[in-house]
This record gives sequence, structure tokens and C-alpha cells, in this order.
Amino acid sequence: MATLAAAPKPASLPIHQTQLLIDGQWVPAKSGKTFDTINPATEEVIAQVAEGDAADVEAAVRAARRAFDEGPWPRMNARDRGRIMYRLADLIEAEIDELAALEALDNGKPVSDARAGDIPLALDTLRYYAGWADKIHGQTIPINGNYFCYTRREPVGVAGQIIPWNFPILMTAWKWGPALAAGCTIVMKPAEQTPLTCLRLARLAQKAGVPDGVINVVPGFGPTAGAAIVKHPGIDKVAFTGSGETAQIIMRQAADGLKRLTFELGGKSPNIVFADADLDAAAVGAHVGIYLNQGQCCCAGSRLFVEDAIHEKFVERVVEMSRKRKVGDPFDPATEQGPQVDRAQFDKIMGYIESGKREGATCATGGKRVGDRGFFIEPTVFTNVKDEMAIAREEIFGPVLSVLKFSDMDELIRRANATTFGLAAAVWTRDVARAHEVAKRLRAGTVWVNCYDVFDAAAPFGGFKQSGFGRELGERGLDPYLETKTVTVSLS
Ligand code: NAP
Ligand code: MG
Repeated sequence: MATLAAAPKPASLPIHQTQLLIDGQWVPAKSGKTFDTINPATEEVIAQVAEGDAADVEAAVRAARRAFDEGPWPRMNARDRGRIMYRLADLIEAEIDELAALEALDNGKPVSDARAGDIPLALDTLRYYAGWADKIHGQTIPINGNYFCYTRREPVGVAGQIIPWNFPILMTAWKWGPALAAGCTIVMKPAEQTPLTCLRLARLAQKAGVPDGVINVVPGFGPTAGAAIVKHPGIDKVAFTGSGETAQIIMRQAADGLKRLTFELGGKSPNIVFADADLDAAAVGAHVGIYLNQGQCCCAGSRLFVEDAIHEKFVERVVEMSRKRKVGDPFDPATEQGPQVDRAQFDKIMGYIESGKREGATCATGGKRVGDRGFFIEPTVFTNVKDEMAIAREEIFGPVLSVLKFSDMDELIRRANATTFGLAAAVWTRDVARAHEVAKRLRAGTVWVNCYDVFDAAAPFGGFKQSGFGRELGERGLDPYLETKTVTVSLS
């Protein structure tokens, strides 16, 4: 709590970076345009941020191209790249209180969450990949004939990176970590709702010694700045986190240049509670699984499957905990849940709450706005949910839980997998054999057993089915930033 008290209050928080970073220079948009970024707790404007578009992306890609084709970054000793990345992590850590406050201001998440969760995980990611920088190597391969055959792992080139607003600092680290370790250069577009911390990290990267042109940041809007990155022939690879709809647009637009793509998209993750589970732990898991980050998590456990024998009692506990959840000012240390990120998300979630009621589900708690200023929504639990209702099928991306009842294992697996998504899942049981069986049969990129939202920089994360392709984090997270070159030498 001592560190929390140290977090600067919004009024005294210096903003610093609001311009574009291109080739090591902080510049206004060529058009001269800016856009407002707002504080979702008060709906007030925090700052005007330079609005990049195709002309700025052109300059950023030229800089990233030059930095990749001619600059020191991919050519320096790999260990030195790692050292610069460690230094970046240290500089972020030195400003952790101020960065947590800036994240809370721009995104609305509780400052305590940013301080204890997002930023430590971002630091881990940068340090984990800093350690990889000098450990990326190929193989020698015993091919037929008198040849010496080996592979080299080389950086893919210039990476276009487009991130969403739910974890601005963490998503920046997930994207920069593997790209920088591999020796790639970057053109990044943060989300229009939350550009401030990504820009601040870019300033710290400069201080850490990342050479000019290696990291370029172009805030702006998806259809202009984002699309320009996706279409630009100077971009070799696009890494995107966000909605499936936008991913489909990106995939079509990236087809012309046959760009490499990785997508981390949404989910409708099943969180499964068997009657034999530690129900205290499972109730906390159900609560955190849906409400973390105001429900704005791609891996949110938004479908809670509860075995019929304990259904009534367990739901009572979940509802009780939801009622007690503290919604309010992100800068109050007691706050557990802040506002949704913007009006569009607020309206979308309220629309789903209405649809749940209309389709006949029972709103057991919540369902209303909190206050009349800021985008706050009550923690909401729907019971009597049917699999075919929109609230059981579509990603709501808000604090809205759908509870479903099950009795039979095969039926449970079929229903849990009956979704176009496949990002994450969890199972709560004391039966080890059953835990592993469910983990095997669920079609999801991550399965948590008797826990939820456990992330680690060393453990790969990503989706089956329409939750995306490619993996982030871990050794697998490097793959999308590397090409494999086969060299065959005649020894005759
Ligand atoms: P989104 O449209 O997918 O936005 C994600 C990022 O893509 C933003 O930086 C966005 O720019 C950019 N973008 C938008 N259109 C683009 C285009 N044509 N070309 C290139 N980039 C483009 O997501 P959203 O509208 O913010 O949120 C809508 C829904 O997406 C949410 O309700 C949620 O269901 C889902 N979502 C999922 C995640 C996740 O972690 N998987 C994160 C956020 C949202 P702008 O800044 O202009 O939007
Ligand atoms: Mg904002």
C-alpha cells in the first residue's frame, strides 16, 4: 500500500509525450491533426494526441526499413541487444508509480491493478525476451550426401504492430519483447483510446539506447493509420491484437503483400466448476475470471459452467461476491473495478445486458450503470442462461457473467467447445484424472486447472479457432518474428 500512496494523482500527473515518434524524432502529424484521449472515469479530455495517418506511416515505415536494412539493430552483438532491453525494463521499473497512474488515467483500470499486475508482467516480458536475444540459434542437419547443412534464424524484418486499449502497457511489451530480441524494427499503432503509456515507453526506449528508427509509434485511427501499416509494402509482418472483425479486414488487406500475420483475438471462455472442487477457490476464480480489468479481457471466463449438484449454492456465492465488488474511482486504493474504456464499449455492454433480459435470462445482480458520470457498470450475473442466447455466444467484453448448468461430462465438453472461439478455459475439480481429461478435450489455447488468469512471460498464449493464430510469450512467441534460412555447403 505504501507504493500506492506514492502514485501521483491525476491532476499532478505530467503527460510528456503526445507526438509521434518517427526515426528518433518527436513530431506532429503531417496533417497537423490531433485527437482527444479521455479519462473514462470523468469523461474529461486528458490530452490532445497527434493523429497519424498514411503520410506519417509512410515516414515511419521508411525509418523502420532503413533501421532494419542498414542500421545497427539487427547487426549488433545479440547480447548487446539484450542489454539494451534489460535497461528499458529497468527504466520502466524506475517510473512504475507514474506509469501505473498514467495507465489508470487513460484506460480507467484501478491504479493498484496496473501497479501490481500489468506493469510487473510487462517487465517480466521484456526481461524474458532480453534473455532470449543471444539464444536464438539454428541447427546442423544431417542431410543425404556430402554436405554440411545448417539453419540460421534471422529477423523477419519490419513488424507492424497494432494493439488494443485493454492492456496498453502490457500489450506494448508483448509486441516489442520478441520483435526486439529477434532484431526486427517496429512501426506500432496504439489504440486511439489509450495512446499515452505506449508513447511514454517509447521515450524510455530511446533513453535505454534503442537506436533511432527501431521503434516508431504512430497513434491514430484504425481505418487510417492502422490500415496504412497493414497495406504498406515496406512492412514484412503484422501482429494484431483486437477484434475478429478487424482481423478479417487486416487479413484481406495484407493478402496483397503476402504479409506474415499473427492474431490474438477474442474469446468466450468456459470456466467449469465440478461439484468436488474447492468451492472457495472456485468462487474467487469465477469472480476474478470475469471481472478482472472491468471484464475487458480476451480470456475472460464469461461462460461459467456449474455442475447441477452445487449450482444453486455456488451461484449464490458468486452473486454475493459480485454485489460486494467495489466499483469506483480508479485512484482510490479500495477500488476493485473502474469504468469501461469508452462510451462505445459502455453502450455495447448495456446492449448485451438488455438482450440477456429480452431473451429470458435472469439478471441475478447488477445490470445497471453506476453513477451518471464516467462509464461505470455494475458487476452483472445472469442465471438461467441458454446456450443459444447472445450473452452465451458473443464476446461482451464487460463485467457480465453468464451462468450455465451441466450434469454430464460428454455433454459439458460438447457445449464448452460449441463456440467459434478457443482462447482459454478453466476447470475446477479435486479429481486429477478428470482435470487432465477436460484439459485435453477442450479446444482452447490455454487451460487453467484450479486457477484463472495465471500468466507468465515463459508460457505461450494464443488462440485455437477464431481466437487467432500464432502464439505470444514463451519460446513460441519468437517464431513469428523469425525466418528460418537453410544453408547447404558442398563438402565434395
Ligand atoms: P478493434 O477495432 O479490433 O481495435 C484494435 C486495434 O485495431 C486498435 O488499435 C484499432 O484502432 C485498430 N484497427 C481498427 N480498425 C483497423 C483497420 N481497419 N486496420 C488496422 N487496424 C485497425 O477493437 P475495438 O473496436 O477497440 O473493440 C471492439 C471489440 O473488440 C471489443 O468489444 C472486444 O470484443 C474486442 N477486443 C478484443 C481485444 C483482445 O484483447 N482480444 C482487445 C480489444 C477489443 P482504433 O484505435 O482506431 O480503434
Ligand atoms: Mg483514454
